[in-house]
Amino acid sequence: EKQVTILGAGLAGCEAALWLAEQGVQVDLYEQKPVKFSPAHKSEGFAELVCSNSLKADRLDSASGLLKAEMKLLGSHLLKAAEATRVAAGGALAVDRDAFSAAVTEMVKSQPNITLHTGEVTVIDENRLTLVATGPLTEGALADEITRLTGGDKLSFYDAAAPIVTAESLDMNKVFAASRYGRGDADYLNCPFNKEEYEAFHAALVSAERAPLHEFDGKLTVYEGCMPIEVMAGRGADTMRFGPLRPVGLTDPRTGHRPWANVQLRRENVGGTLYNIVGFQTNLKFGEQKRVFSMIPGLENAEFVRYGVMHRNTFLNSPHLLSAGLNLKKHPKVYFAGQITGFEGYMESAACGLLAARSILAALEERQLPELPAETMLGQLVRYITTENKNFQPMGANMGILPPLDEHIRDKRERYLAIANRAVAAMEQWTENAQ
Ligand code: FAD
Repeated sequence: EKQVTILGAGLAGCEAALWLAEQGVQVDLYEQKPVKFSPAHKSEGFAELVCSNSLKADRLDSASGLLKAEMKLLGSHLLKAAEATRVAAGGALAVDRDAFSAAVTEMVKSQPNITLHTGEVTVIDENRLTLVATGPLTEGALADEITRLTGGDKLSFYDAAAPIVTAESLDMNKVFAASRYGRGDADYLNCPFNKEEYEAFHAALVSAERAPLHEFDGKLTVYEGCMPIEVMAGRGADTMRFGPLRPVGLTDPRTGHRPWANVQLRRENVGGTLYNIVGFQTNLKFGEQKRVFSMIPGLENAEFVRYGVMHRNTFLNSPHLLSAGLNLKKHPKVYFAGQITGFEGYMESAACGLLAARSILAALEERQLPELPAETMLGQLVRYITTENKNFQPMGANMGILPPLDEHIRDKRERYLAIANRAVAAMEQWTENAQ
């Protein structure tokens, strides 16, 4: 009988479990919730999105859209759950996080080949086929166990989450609904700053009090894609205006002009009763978040249902430790998937789970899984994490890692589309040959 043990029912673990179970493999899936929660996990369901509810762009001519197209070809179940629970968000695939998690949980629980085990796992048997997908907040005994198997070659850094406010607490005389450049139907709410308001806000932000980082045991390394807003503000008065607070593509209906700076709010749930503050991952003390973020026009009386937090983020030194099949070179029965490998992002983590699943099935059937084509996003991500690199940092989907076209196309959109079409064709071919 084909059997595998999977640790963690997060994005990577669920994706791998569902695919393997569908292939007839008996999956023992271990999840610590609701017995134990990481500092970022709050709900009992599987595949919980701990920060933003956006799974990023959907268009094929974008890096995230291409990754999704590849995942579809690889039989992603999470993508189906996401499409079924999406909320309006311009060109992005954003979901109602509770509905998304409930949909994945239901798929897992109703799959007869998956046996669920609830409780914290503290040991890994390196002689058993195991997939470790316990995420970037893996800690305690299991982290020690990974260290035992990897010879202490483990890294940590920090990540942050953004606050969430209620829609009814917003001042709709100031806030206006619009998507940048009119893309999508007015899916975002916008909080426009004039110059004076922005400068006062910037000054308050850089001097606000930050929360202490207790677990911190080395040099603070912040992942650029999830940089706390106060760290970004500290880089210069205009840095936020060229980042998440950029006003381009927007017109404030009250003034008829483009704002000096603009904060966007993204819908959190289908009902549109909650919004997250886009780009406002933060490590400010909760009281300071209330004080300083209430200076954002329209948020003067905002009710915060969740404050932003910062957490440890653990990942392996994958270039040293993992083979292209996502298993340990030293202990080939032990596989890793998700953020813990250095894949960065929700969909990337799930995609990594899909690859690990195929790799595991190949091992169970005693055959070699062909290498993913170099033209594909997933193929390049796995090459990235398994290629020697002194300054190894997690990597998300981006067009920059794909090989250039034989013939250069000047228009960026057209170029990306051609690169994406090439990738999809290569992935189609691979899935036909890889079974
Ligand atoms: P997870 O989804 O975390 O799943 C791991 C699962 O394993 C959890 O259910 C956990 O309870 C379980 N588990 C852990 N240890 C044990 C154990 N010992 N025994 C049993 N079960 C265990 N990515 C984005 O794309 N957008 C974002 O906005 C974003 N924000 C983030 C914010 C924070 C604070 C963090 C930490 C990460 C963020 N990420 C974000 C990165 C990444 O996409 C997520 O961490 C993602 O959930 C990773 O998926 P995963 O499957 O690897 O791990």
